[in-house]
Order: sequence, then structure tokens, then C-alpha cells
Amino acid sequence: MDANAGKLARWLRMMGYDTLFFNGPDDGSMVKLALAQGRTVITRDTEFMKRRAVASGRVRALLVSGDDPAAQMRSAISALSIDRDYKPFSRCLECNAELSSREKSDVNGSVPERVYNLQDQYMQCPICGRIYWRGTHWAAMHRKLEELSAEERPPEQGVSR
Ligand SMILES: [Zn+2]
Repeated sequence: MDANAGKLARWLRMMGYDTLFFNGPDDGSMVKLALAQGRTVITRDTEFMKRRAVASGRVRALLVSGDDPAAQMRSAISALSIDRDYKPFSRCLECNAELSSREKSDVNGSVPERVYNLQDQYMQCPICGRIYWRGTHWAAMHRKLEELSAEERPPEQGVSR
């Protein structure tokens, strides 16, 4: 994720996609990183798309436009065909690390008491230590994601059982 398309990074992580936020010195190092790790670059920079590595297809890149992360997300999902990797809330929104599940007793004292009393399932980031749970914020984001991915799919066909 080029820094110029940064808002989209959190959305992609929310959906469980391995997303690096690139804020390095220049486009050349972004190309190197993409090549070394087999990553697709998402950018808003039309000039970047003209780079030799990109134009020749050695580096896969996606150009997004506009300011609406939801619209960018839709174009990213369909352009990259990443529907199948959809794994919401499995990744830290800040570090991109995969979360590990935690027992309720492990987080006692680390989450607000009202949360502890209500929630039984927790996930934790192994890097920053942030603890995630399925609170109201989670539910709201989940609905939004479901809406976004539903808009991407063709209408359901009738299924006979
Ligand atoms: Zn983290």
C-alpha cells in the first residue's frame, strides 16, 4: 500500500489481508519490496504505473482513484480477485500481524471491566499486544464489510435442497 492510498490499508487488514503500509524513501524501494515479497502495489500515483517494472508486468500494481475507501476497496477486491482470502478480524489493524486467540482469563485486567463481563472471546496482536474483542465497534465494521463484499457478488441464485 503506497502511503498515498493509506486509508485503504486498515480496511484490507480488517478483512484479513496481509497489507504493508509503504512509507519508504522512494518508489524504487517500493518496487524492490514488492518483487522481494511477491506483493501487489496499490497506489494512487499514475506515474508509478508507468515504471518499467510495472508496465512490463514484473510487479503487479493496482491504481485506485478517489477518496472513498469503500469504493477503493471494491475496486481492489475485484481487480485482485482476493475474495477467497477473506478472513475478517484475523489481523492487527496497526501492525498487520496475525492475531492469536486468548483465553478470557488471560486478558483479565487488560480490558475494561464492562468488556470483560460481556465478552468471552479475545484476540491479541503478538507484536503490539493490542487486544481485540467482538464489541459493538466490531459489529459495526463487520456489517460494513459484509455490505461491501455483498455488492461485489452477483445476486444469489435460488438454491433447491
Ligand atoms: Zn499489533
